[in-house]
Amino acid sequence: MSQIEKKEVKIRLEKLRDLIEYHRKNYHLKDISEISPEALDSLKKELSDLESAYPSLVTADSPTQRVAGGVKDELQKVVHKSRQWSLNDCFTEDEFISFDERVKRFLKLNLQKDIEYVAEHKIDGLKIILEYKKGIFFRGATRGDGVIGEDVTHNIRTIESVPLKLDRPINITVEGEVWMSKSVFKTLNIQREEEGLELFANPRNIAAGSLRQLDPNIAASRKLGVFIYDITEYKEMPKTQNEELKLLGNLGFKVNKDFKLCKNAKEVIEFWNKWQDKKEKQDYFFDGIVVKVNEKKLQDELGYTGKAPRYAIAFKFKAEQVTTIVENITLQVGRTGVVTPVAELRPVLVYGSKVSRATLHNEDEIRRLGLKIGDTVILQKAGDVIPEVVEVLIDLRTGQEKEFKMPKNCPVCDSILEKKSIGSKGEGSAAWYCINKNCEAKDRKKLYYFTSKKVFNIDGLGPKIIDALCDALLVKIPADFFNLKKDEILALPRFGELSVDNLLSSIERARNIELSRLIASLSIPQVGEETSYDLANTFGSIEKFLNADFDTLSGIFGVGVVIAREISEWKKDKYHMDSLHKLLKELKIINPKKNNAIVNSKVSGKTFVLTGTLDSMDRDEAKALIKKLGGSVASAVSKSTDYVVAGESAGSKYDKAQELGIKILTEEEFRTLTK
Ligand code: ZN
Repeated sequence: MSQIEKKEVKIRLEKLRDLIEYHRKNYHLKDISEISPEALDSLKKELSDLESAYPSLVTADSPTQRVAGGVKDELQKVVHKSRQWSLNDCFTEDEFISFDERVKRFLKLNLQKDIEYVAEHKIDGLKIILEYKKGIFFRGATRGDGVIGEDVTHNIRTIESVPLKLDRPINITVEGEVWMSKSVFKTLNIQREEEGLELFANPRNIAAGSLRQLDPNIAASRKLGVFIYDITEYKEMPKTQNEELKLLGNLGFKVNKDFKLCKNAKEVIEFWNKWQDKKEKQDYFFDGIVVKVNEKKLQDELGYTGKAPRYAIAFKFKAEQVTTIVENITLQVGRTGVVTPVAELRPVLVYGSKVSRATLHNEDEIRRLGLKIGDTVILQKAGDVIPEVVEVLIDLRTGQEKEFKMPKNCPVCDSILEKKSIGSKGEGSAAWYCINKNCEAKDRKKLYYFTSKKVFNIDGLGPKIIDALCDALLVKIPADFFNLKKDEILALPRFGELSVDNLLSSIERARNIELSRLIASLSIPQVGEETSYDLANTFGSIEKFLNADFDTLSGIFGVGVVIAREISEWKKDKYHMDSLHKLLKELKIINPKKNNAIVNSKVSGKTFVLTGTLDSMDRDEAKALIKKLGGSVASAVSKSTDYVVAGESAGSKYDKAQELGIKILTEEEFRTLTK
């Protein structure tokens, strides 16, 4: 091929790409079709043919590259550049007004003053983070646990409304939501029904499932949509949220047009009411609105509580309600042995999801509802919250309904069920527990939890595979996962060479585990991820945690006597400890760094006691702030207390501090100290 010929091909390729890109933008960003889909396909075909003939001229941003690179072996982990927060939520106008007031108090503004907010639809989809380098799409990741997500670049490329190339050659990281439209969802389920396949439960699950596929052709066939709403990293950050959305649109991202710059809280509430009524008309599911303080300077000042930003809130719509029949009440045994009654429902569609089961929490809840088997009930679901039975329609009874009686024995192992004593006076728990340590149901659930995302995060070890491994007697306790042999697994049905290798390498990777996740993995009753995180940071090593006595444990902020008792009971149990020691032999534990916290010399190493109410933050926020800066919080004033922070109507702790001559801080002084 001559140089001249190659140059001409190159020019033709560039023109074709530009033209296809022009029509893509028109169609996906502006809803305009200037040419027919057939004509556009023909252009794409010419481009694809030419590129096949001249592979050296293929560029990364070419429209043909949306489904390129073939099937992946596994999804790589991505460590996010900045932490992905989740939002606090509110459900009523009053709750939203309280949020508005909290914001003003924190900013020390007069409560009568207006604050500008931007309100956007809260799309019921899957969050993604996209990176562009010099204007070219570089990487797309899922949110994951907020710190580590999964690389799903190959699937995000297939989404036509995601630009492969921006209008400017900039480095930028943005965030958005991937979703499936109601109409595509419907068509897909009609197709599946015709093919005799199981129907998808709701669009959100398919969108999430499609993004995590290894083969990009599957995601491409699902016609996913995207809305981008935030810039994570960019050298010229806009000054307001409103300008940020406009900039995103100008750069070529698809931004949801239905956002509004509201002058004050009242306008936000109007927006919320308007869309509550109109939400059915949109072609996507959204379960509320996201409200952010418009000005970035104020956003920065407001900052984060340790869990969520203080400058934003998810303002959820009222829950959707439908009626259905409770056909049966069954029992489920959880990993801590708690036995939960579950309503088996006549399947019903609520909030876009097919629902056939709902938790009834405990025996008392069934009594409170007055529920009998066969009753017609009102079922309620709000967004991604689990559905619940809220009312029994007694007028529809026929007389055939049956009373539910809580059995005395575990439905799995037949052991006697017991109530636990909880609280300082030893009151009985509402829930019944299976107390058999060897109950198979408990062991299974613990294993499911052990491998789950929140804990050891072992890819490819879901409940079905764990069932198969347990039934083949290969696994009984968590340590067994780390001793699985390749040929043992290969002998099981459904496993091929490649899938076994993938599984074993995910297990290998899981040997390096953070202390907090290890503690959570033990399934100690009442000890969830948050408490485990506090315990890990307090003790710093598994040995210190195991050696801590009841008094030390109960003195830790966020633990208290109930949890301390559970931990002590758990540690006394030989079965638990044997199983843990076997596990420890397999692991390399990553202990929390000593000063994970930002060191603030005035706070670090100091002990605080809080009393009374603070204006600008609630008590949990104040505690989180102190901990973040390396200090600790005690519940009672003693000689070892460094500061007592006294809010409004401070109580006896204030007097005690005065008596002991301990420094008392006003809220103002506390805020200066923690700045
Ligand atoms: Zn049992």
